[in-house]
Amino acid sequence: MEGASGMADITDYEHGICAIDSGFGRPRLDAIHLIVEGGRAALVDTGTNASLPLVMEALQGKGLAPEQVDYVILTHVHLDHAGGAGALMRELPKAVLAVHPRGARHMADPARLVAGTVAVYGEDRARQMYGEILPVEAARIREMPEGSRLHLAGRELRFLDTPGHARHHVCILDGRSGHVFAGDMFGLSYRELDRGGRQFAFPSTTPTQFDPEAMHASIDRLLALRPQAIYVTHYGQVREVERLGADLHRLVEAHVDIALRCRHEGAGRQPAIKAGLAELLQAEAGRQGWGIPAGELLRLMAIDIELNAQGLAAWLDGPG
Ligand SMILES: [Zn+2]
Repeated sequence: MEGASGMADITDYEHGICAIDSGFGRPRLDAIHLIVEGGRAALVDTGTNASLPLVMEALQGKGLAPEQVDYVILTHVHLDHAGGAGALMRELPKAVLAVHPRGARHMADPARLVAGTVAVYGEDRARQMYGEILPVEAARIREMPEGSRLHLAGRELRFLDTPGHARHHVCILDGRSGHVFAGDMFGLSYRELDRGGRQFAFPSTTPTQFDPEAMHASIDRLLALRPQAIYVTHYGQVREVERLGADLHRLVEAHVDIALRCRHEGAGRQPAIKAGLAELLQAEAGRQGWGIPAGELLRLMAIDIELNAQGLAAWLDGPG
């Protein structure tokens, strides 16, 4: 039956946790995490509208009916995480959408989210990337402030308010494994760059709410939980959390230094920041022994460098 099914790329971890490739962008760029406990399921992030058939297939592959999904949790409402939520919720009759209080209204009425995305990517590209963003019925949305909890067949999921990447960002501590679902708060970690099992992390400073002080504080909050593993949307499980956390602190500082150095460049500011980030990335590749040709590395990280540069520029401009 090869070829008849099996489109979904699933990476299984321990404690009933797996990553489903959302299909966004390129293979293993954008993960949707699934937590299964006692025949009940929670999804962490949703990918985009185009991810829907992959999620439904992954659930089926795990022997889960749509009615067995209790929660769709959004780490934050950037569209590579939340763009598919409206379409997905229509297929999951019992699910509650759990989201930061600052994100809730945007899921009920996505107009501002769409406008923000159009501002970053332009109208045509935004539409091509994300399609039509569907709203979620307000009655099915639950706001998850700091310290709030969900119970998945008795398994406690605790929410931490973790600004830095975005003010509408939560991280989720899994009471059973002690692992953390960190969305974009613990950086980017593409599996293509693993060498000999050694992983890396690179910060994500996407516009328009990057806040370095908050990011340092949120990273420290996650490290204080001493998790054995963290799940990042880009992509999947990372371990050696303490080492990666130290790398992230250092690289966030380097991002800030680059932005401040380019502050007075006028019209050349954005290209100067991008050039600085490309240099930082190559220096990091040398330091970590990634052994990947510079051209390939810059191609792999091109969108991230672009977004990080835009986010740093927005930070220099101050709250808009
Ligand atoms: Zn994000």
